[in-house]
Amino acid sequence: MAEPKATIVPVDPATPDPAVLARLGAALRAGALVAFPTETVYGLGADATNPAAVAGIFAAKDRPSSDPLIVHLADLAQLPAVTGRTLAELPPAVARLAAACWPGPLTLILPRGPAIPASVAAGLATVGVRLPAHPVARALIQAAGVPVAAPSANRFGHTSPTTAQHVFADLGERIPWIIDGGPSLVGVESTILDVTQSPPRVLRPGGISVEVLGAALGEPVAFQERAAVADDAAQAPGMLLSHYAPRARLLVFDGDDVAATWARAIAEAHELAAQGQRVGALAPDDLAADFAAAGAVAVARLGALTDPAAVARHLFAALRQLDDAGVDSIVTGSFARAGLGLAVRDRLWRAAGGVVIPVEDATEREA
Ligand code: AMP
Ligand code: MG
Repeated sequence: MAEPKATIVPVDPATPDPAVLARLGAALRAGALVAFPTETVYGLGADATNPAAVAGIFAAKDRPSSDPLIVHLADLAQLPAVTGRTLAELPPAVARLAAACWPGPLTLILPRGPAIPASVAAGLATVGVRLPAHPVARALIQAAGVPVAAPSANRFGHTSPTTAQHVFADLGERIPWIIDGGPSLVGVESTILDVTQSPPRVLRPGGISVEVLGAALGEPVAFQERAAVADDAAQAPGMLLSHYAPRARLLVFDGDDVAATWARAIAEAHELAAQGQRVGALAPDDLAADFAAAGAVAVARLGALTDPAAVARHLFAALRQLDDAGVDSIVTGSFARAGLGLAVRDRLWRAAGGVVIPVEDATEREA
């Protein structure tokens, strides 16, 4: 695939130039791949009604065809075209959640209408649908005039991109266009909620918290943290264990006593540095100096320990930063199960290949 290098097109994130978006919207409609900023992470977009364009997404990412894509809309008027149903014909939770959470980082699993090719949804009868909040994403989809399938704009299994530069590093040789609208402000992918089940169930924690979803619905949503999920069938398709993995070995100290997990991570940094390793730390601001004092050669700051939204915003860029620093091992601790903390915990767990180190029994660690 001797493609030309991607052109990075800078736009103002709040008020993008309509002429630029008209041009790139037309490119999307004509079947081209266009990477663009959303509030969660950068997406790799294609016309969701065009099977050839959709195939291009899977090829560019090396993504297996068994991993379904999320379809992005500019407004609710596009919902019937994607689901084959009016709002009134969809589960009642949809109208309530759309009013409370859209545009925003929430993906709903809905019936798939005939306009959406099976390949978008990996053959499923359902389709993930989201109305992104980012002004650039909305204006681009509006200009395209078609629903836009868009997974994160990274090679399959890599860390999701939160800047145009991250996209270029992964896909610059493979796609023609990258719109640069600055860093993504949520920083982790959308929350995926299956509203075809009752009560609605969270398949992936993400940019909107389960607390907010419960308040919007008037009843708690179902959610099982990954470690407690025994069988694969209970997870969303495509939710592989090893994802977002950095090149360095990632050691996640996990436990209910959050402070104890960080004390253990700092002690481990000290031990590994003493053995001559180049140690990186994913550290809350409050503890950055402690990791440096323990001998970590690279400390990526995540924001305050008690501010999971800040941690989510910085997490993926921090993982890339530590890989760029060429560290041997990355150590980190645990976050509380509240707000975006669930999404942060999920991404760290996946980045570690599903192997975390319980602080109560650190000797059970797997290399
Ligand atoms: P992303 O790679 O962030 O765009 O997220 C796509 C993920 O959404 C997939 O890997 C699935 O886990 C989930 N997903 C998408 N469509 C469906 C669907 N129809 N049913 C269940 N999960 C879905
Ligand atoms: Mg992804």
